[in-house]
Amino acid sequence: MKITEHLKEAKSTLFSFEILPPLKGQSLKELLEGISPLMDFKPPFVDVTYHREEFIYKKHPNGLLEKISTKKRPGTVGICAAIMNRFHIDAVPHLLCGGFTKEETENALIDLNFIGVENVLALRGDAPKAEGRFIPEPNGHHFASELVQQIIGMNAGKYLHEETEIGFQTDFCVGVAGYPEKHFEAPSMKFDLKYLKEKVDNGAEYIVTQMFFDNEKFFKFVEDVRAAGITVPIIPGIKPITTLGQITMLPRTFFLDLPDDLMDELEKCKTNQEVKEVGIEWSIAQCKELVERGVPSLHFYTMSKADTTYKIAKEIF
Ligand code: FAD
Repeated sequence: MKITEHLKEAKSTLFSFEILPPLKGQSLKELLEGISPLMDFKPPFVDVTYHREEFIYKKHPNGLLEKISTKKRPGTVGICAAIMNRFHIDAVPHLLCGGFTKEETENALIDLNFIGVENVLALRGDAPKAEGRFIPEPNGHHFASELVQQIIGMNAGKYLHEETEIGFQTDFCVGVAGYPEKHFEAPSMKFDLKYLKEKVDNGAEYIVTQMFFDNEKFFKFVEDVRAAGITVPIIPGIKPITTLGQITMLPRTFFLDLPDDLMDELEKCKTNQEVKEVGIEWSIAQCKELVERGVPSLHFYTMSKADTTYKIAKEIF
């Protein structure tokens, strides 16, 4: 079923979450068993992230370094199939511009359609760590809006090459990313919203936000998005802080601020356990307010660890 249909049918705020494929070499069993308790909260859908290639350097005996491209977390499509089979809920694969030619995107979408995936989150992706800025593949997409266009084109039976005579129409519901604290490359929020609108104008039907810790920033974002003429549902992304390291890592990686009230509490923490307790309390308060304001779903960034999300969801659903 499409995400938009789940949202339309819902009588109250839904519970949904995102997982990461396991590191290469690890089995899927542990991941599926790990998220199984979260089914208590009846998620209609689970997102599965996509991880593009990274470059590693292998040193040879002669001292020369060889640059090797590798994917550390492959398996997004297989995990989606496993989730749908095991839990009978929708799986939403993340699909990137980065690392894909248009041809590869088309083939990936055909695979997804064949295994029964009805929703995709269309993203640009970031540059690989070793590269400073995002560079599309030759004949790849520069921005998520172009990827949305390709997917919506396939929904209309439009394929890349004219020799495809019978254009089977896919029927994907497409989601896109939104940034309550602005995407880090956008020079202003107005600029960012212009291109968020382009994604929606090209056919995206819902928005999932980057994590945020200050609800006021989310409420302001929703206001600005609506003022920009975007009417699709906006699903807030929730991430509880669970370790001392995340206090500096999350702002650095995701270009977001931690509110003073939260920082006052976190600064008193000496151990990860103490941080986790503060993080859970903060997320519960955030979620309660978001539910009161009638958000369509609370979408948890679980990092494939279910225990923290379970504790929060138990207080909300
Ligand atoms: P876009 O919408 O293409 O925007 C990128 C930047 O370009 C923005 O600054 C925008 O303002 C600007 N822009 C857009 N269009 C134009 C234009 N036509 N001209 C000029 N500027 C333009 N990354 C992964 O690698 N894997 C994942 O699974 C993943 N999942 C995510 C899930 C969510 C909910 C979110 C919020 C992010 C996720 N990301 C993921 C990270 C995402 O790939 C990065 O944030 C990336 O830098 C931007 O992706 P986007 O789709 O928002 O890009």
